[in-house]
Amino acid sequence: MSDNATQSFEEVSSGYSMHEAIAEAKRCLHCKTPQCRTGCPIGNEIPDWIHELSMGNLGNAMRIINGRSNLPAVCGLVCAHERQCEGHCILGKKDRPVRIGKLERFIADFDGEMGLIHEPLAQKTRGKVAVIGSGPAGLTIAGDLARLGFMVEIFEMEPEAGGVLMFGIPEYRLPKDVVRREIRKIEELGVVVRCNATIGSDYTIDDLFDRGFDAIFIGTGTGKPRKLDIPGNSLKGVHQAIYLLRLVSLHQAGSISRDEIPVKSGQRVFVIGCGNTAMDAARTALRMGATDVQVIYHRTINEMSALRAEYDDAVKEGVVFNWQSSITEIIGEEGSVRSVTVECQGERRKERADLVIMAVGRFPQVALFPQPKA
Ligand SMILES: Cc1cc2nc3c(=O)[nH]c(=O)nc-3n(C[C@H](O)[C@H](O)[C@H](O)COP(=O)(O)OP(=O)(O)OC[C@H]3O[C@@H](n4cnc5c(N)ncnc54)[C@H](O)[C@@H]3O)c2cc1C
Repeated sequence: MSDNATQSFEEVSSGYSMHEAIAEAKRCLHCKTPQCRTGCPIGNEIPDWIHELSMGNLGNAMRIINGRSNLPAVCGLVCAHERQCEGHCILGKKDRPVRIGKLERFIADFDGEMGLIHEPLAQKTRGKVAVIGSGPAGLTIAGDLARLGFMVEIFEMEPEAGGVLMFGIPEYRLPKDVVRREIRKIEELGVVVRCNATIGSDYTIDDLFDRGFDAIFIGTGTGKPRKLDIPGNSLKGVHQAIYLLRLVSLHQAGSISRDEIPVKSGQRVFVIGCGNTAMDAARTALRMGATDVQVIYHRTINEMSALRAEYDDAVKEGVVFNWQSSITEIIGEEGSVRSVTVECQGERRKERADLVIMAVGRFPQVALFPQPKA
């Protein structure tokens, strides 16, 4: 990879300085009925910790955040703020909302660097819980249960914990050091993380009960991608977005070589779908050297599930969007993708293509339990 390309995986959002963070915190009106809190799926006590921050009490702010969230730096970076807390902030009606995500990330980073909070370890007297999967769901429940006095072990099939945070969302949006730091904090609560442990093959659910677990939480995510049923979908050069993102993460962690990543310099890449996964795949393809990346989406811009901020960044970086369009056929030569047929409002055109990346939804894996014989 060239130096430039390496550079481009650097984080795109810049953090606040202390001065900027306190100035931004002072903008909060500390509403009696805080709409930001209503907009937060975990009911984070947003005005309370922002108030502490506005007075420079970062330890208190962190303690309040910890009462609701085990992943504040991650949430600060990749939560859907524009639809959740910030989207509900009353200031947003006339001016810009308080940058709640960026403030949360600031506090979490400061705590990570300075070690502000040392939580007393709860005695593990209440029972033993196995958590399957170490994505945000598994990590969150593990942290909460450990605080409540349960002995918790996480079983993760990947070589490293984090789920989509580690192997899906790219480095430039969510630096892996941030994820590792959050996981370390959860481990410091007494949670044991066992990687390379697949439930369903290495151990069964019954094995876990036999090992003395009282309860099992299944947080195995939606790791099975949907395949679009169009001619040519099995040609060489057709890939699933989540597999591409995983390979890039593994390459950046030094586990696989650059050659194993399907995107090559100068390629023309078509991405089908318009959610966050599609945005990540399109922007990652550019970073891996593709010169032309086209997103194909069958609906309009107002119906895309990607966050507006992700879309804006993708446009800035040069991704081209084709609305109300679909790929109706992938055409190959000698087994590899050569072109696609794009249909837009009844009209069809053929476009040269090197790669087609599908980002059209995901399902849960069903391999946890033995499948009934047909
Ligand atoms: C590319 C991408 C970008 C995204 N961007 C955003 C975003 O910006 N903002 C946002 O809010 N959401 C985003 N999401 C969605 C978000 O990541 C998911 O909602 C979230 O990761 C779900 O968490 P989870 O813990 O349920 O599952 P996952 O993160 O998928 O974690 C499940 C874990 O279970 C493990 N596992 C599965 N089966 C087994 C087994 N049998 N044994 C052991 N371990 C197993 C997996 O290896 C994995 O580590 C994005 C998703 C993707 C794919």
